[in-house]
Amino acid sequence: GETKVGRVMAQVAMVMNLDKCIGCHTCSVTCKQTWTNRSGTEYVWFNNVETRPGQGYPRSYEDQDRWKGGWRLKHGRLVPRSGGRARRLARLFANPELPSLDDYYQPWTYDYENLIGAPLGDDVPTAPPRSLIDGRPTRVTWGPNWDDDLGGGPEHIAGDPVLRRMNEQVRLEYEQAFMFYLPRICEHCLNPSCVAVCPSGALYKRIEDGIVLVDQDRCRGWRMCVTGCPYKKVYFNHATGKAEKCTMCYPRIEAGQPTVCSETCVGRLRYLGVVLYDADRVGEAAATADERDLYEAQLGCFLDPEDPVVRRAAEDAGIPHDWITAARRSPVHALISRHRVALPLHPEYRTMPMVWYVPPLSPVVESLTATGHDGEDPAKLFAAIDSLRIPLEYLAGLFTAGDVAPVEAALCRLAAMRSHMRRVNLGEEQDPAIARSVGMDAA
Ligand code: SF4
Ligand code: SF4
Repeated sequence: GETKVGRVMAQVAMVMNLDKCIGCHTCSVTCKQTWTNRSGTEYVWFNNVETRPGQGYPRSYEDQDRWKGGWRLKHGRLVPRSGGRARRLARLFANPELPSLDDYYQPWTYDYENLIGAPLGDDVPTAPPRSLIDGRPTRVTWGPNWDDDLGGGPEHIAGDPVLRRMNEQVRLEYEQAFMFYLPRICEHCLNPSCVAVCPSGALYKRIEDGIVLVDQDRCRGWRMCVTGCPYKKVYFNHATGKAEKCTMCYPRIEAGQPTVCSETCVGRLRYLGVVLYDADRVGEAAATADERDLYEAQLGCFLDPEDPVVRRAAEDAGIPHDWITAARRSPVHALISRHRVALPLHPEYRTMPMVWYVPPLSPVVESLTATGHDGEDPAKLFAAIDSLRIPLEYLAGLFTAGDVAPVEAALCRLAAMRSHMRRVNLGEEQDPAIARSVGMDAA
């Protein structure tokens, strides 16, 4: 039958391909130069790139028990966990759930003088990291991508609440250690808890493109959004006393340009695009879906821009024609809905995040260690999918609330595509089914 469509809305969304991120931080730095190169926002990284496994930025933001002052579900809506204005006021003076400056980390360098100038002795001199902030040689114990240097060993795992819980499944041997980078911006959620918790109505989600912004004139510095965002992507500007967050570079989007992080990304891994969704489906899906079904539930909110019923409904809803065209051409829509190779970050937070990730396709551990094979033969990969170097369970914990099946399916599709592209590049015979599905058979 005909597709049933409710209220059609357009959303600017992003997909990042994690296999391509080299952790260079160009995105973080260009974003900072553009948006937070001011006093009051020194510690703020609208864009951060965190090591996985690792503690993240700010530290332990995924440990939702720690931020239990955030939000909860009430009659299908996200509401601040603290009821009543009086309690909110009381919390304002001692909000225990706010990350501290220490959790946000500070830049550090190594004590090279000690390394180079130490007198000859029995032991190799070390270059301990020290703070750059106050000039004094203060030892630091945590900083940007600190987790890299721990190299996936037991110490590394001890610092990660998610890994700590599943360390039974994770191999602790250093030779089998794994690591990748996870770049993060605000998710510009379909069901944003930052908007729900703001007592001043300062946070809002734009009707035309879904970008979530803070109205600086209305913000009263309650900081409920800082606690309330499960991704910890709202920041408090201590100079202005107001909240600030990633703006999805809205002045650039309005001028038809990509965000600064997408344009400057060295790995060219950030896809920007427009997604059409049914706003009537969002509330119920967010409120009622079982945790493990939330990925599918969010997928079910997206609409196919090729469907004439959807296009008509979108026009009726006043979505401009070029936005509908953009949705049809959108790589984001294709990667999320058509090819199903992109997955949401922590859908179990129920805010319906709109920055999705293509999971890293890591080599197969067994074949790597036994034969030196890099696992690039898809048949071998499918057969050994349970022994990928990055455990499927770890990726599922990040992207699908623990459901391994969609992660496995995405990785298998990526492996098949990689092998297909290799054949294309070598001028070998192509897999006709893959060629057809990606529109390469006519070429
Ligand atoms: Fe709001 Fe956080 Fe979602 Fe961004 S990630 S829209 S700040 S709830
Ligand atoms: Fe990764 Fe691109 Fe950022 Fe470099 S610029 S850290 S490759 S997302």
